[in-house]
Amino acid sequence: MAILIDGKKTSEQIKSEIASRVGEIKASGGKIPHLAAVLVGDDGASQTYVGAKVKACEQVGFRSTLVRLDAGITEEALLHEVQRINDDPDIDGLIAQLPLPKHISVEKVTAKIKPEKDVDGFTPANVGRMALNWPTYVSATPYGILELLKRHEIETSGKHCVVIGRSHIVGSPMSILMARNDYPGNCTVTITHSRTKNLDEIARSADILIVALGRPEFVTADMVKEGAVVIDVGIHRIADESKKSGFRLIGDVKYDEVAPKASAITPVPGGVGPMTIASLLYNTLLAAERKIYP
Ligand code: NAP
Repeated sequence: MAILIDGKKTSEQIKSEIASRVGEIKASGGKIPHLAAVLVGDDGASQTYVGAKVKACEQVGFRSTLVRLDAGITEEALLHEVQRINDDPDIDGLIAQLPLPKHISVEKVTAKIKPEKDVDGFTPANVGRMALNWPTYVSATPYGILELLKRHEIETSGKHCVVIGRSHIVGSPMSILMARNDYPGNCTVTITHSRTKNLDEIARSADILIVALGRPEFVTADMVKEGAVVIDVGIHRIADESKKSGFRLIGDVKYDEVAPKASAITPVPGGVGPMTIASLLYNTLLAAERKIYP
């Protein structure tokens, strides 16, 4: 039976480690980490995500500031707001919740964030540092996956890691991180995408399969090698009358048939998802303690 890679438990552990560190900082009269989140418009999902981040800050003892801006804000005014937060010495970390309204360039806003405060790890400077294996803020989902592998003592050296998906936020950084001369890392990596031929065959050759393509239950048992480690990043809401909420969550992997073949697997929900906020908190702590940019 596969080892369950438990993201819920691991994320709670990380949050409790962060809370202890905040306790030490408070006791020694140091500066309490402070995260600012910029939310543009009133998109329901974005409000939920930002709300969860603010609540998590409270849980670990951080300070947080939610900057709510009107959906009609001009790009120039938003850039000005980012600059204001960049210049505020009291704020350690800054995130701009995506997506932004169509009339605003995500690239311009991302590039405006001061790398020292970029706790989402999305700025060109921090992505470059990640690729060079320099100290950096690794973005939340890839960092969460690395921690899951590490804390479940999954061997990665010399393994063939296949990543399905090449997005800037998951697939692409994961492929770089898994190939690094580090632990987790030292894999031989194959990155795949929608133009890849023979995907089934490539997936079957994976010792570690990282799935982030955004298609419900795309990976089936016949695409997975016996004993593979399977990391499912996908999250989809499926209508389910039997649930109080009216829906249930599933991943990009057909869990019930893949789990019996895998040596270790992340469930959905309770796998990669809960790690994301824990990673953001960790990066904010690094920022407050000037660990990346001394
Ligand atoms: P994305 O930006 O939509 O990228 C999807 C990638 O998958 C693209 O590179 C695309 O290829 C590739 N792809 C699409 N169909 C494919 C196919 N049939 N075969 C092979 N590759 C295919 O997605 P994302 O932002 O990385 O997110 C992926 C999934 O993870 C989504 O379900 C998302 O909700 C979830 N997610 C979860 C978390 C979390 O915290 N757990 C965080 C982020 C994302 P092309 O480049 O060729 O188009």
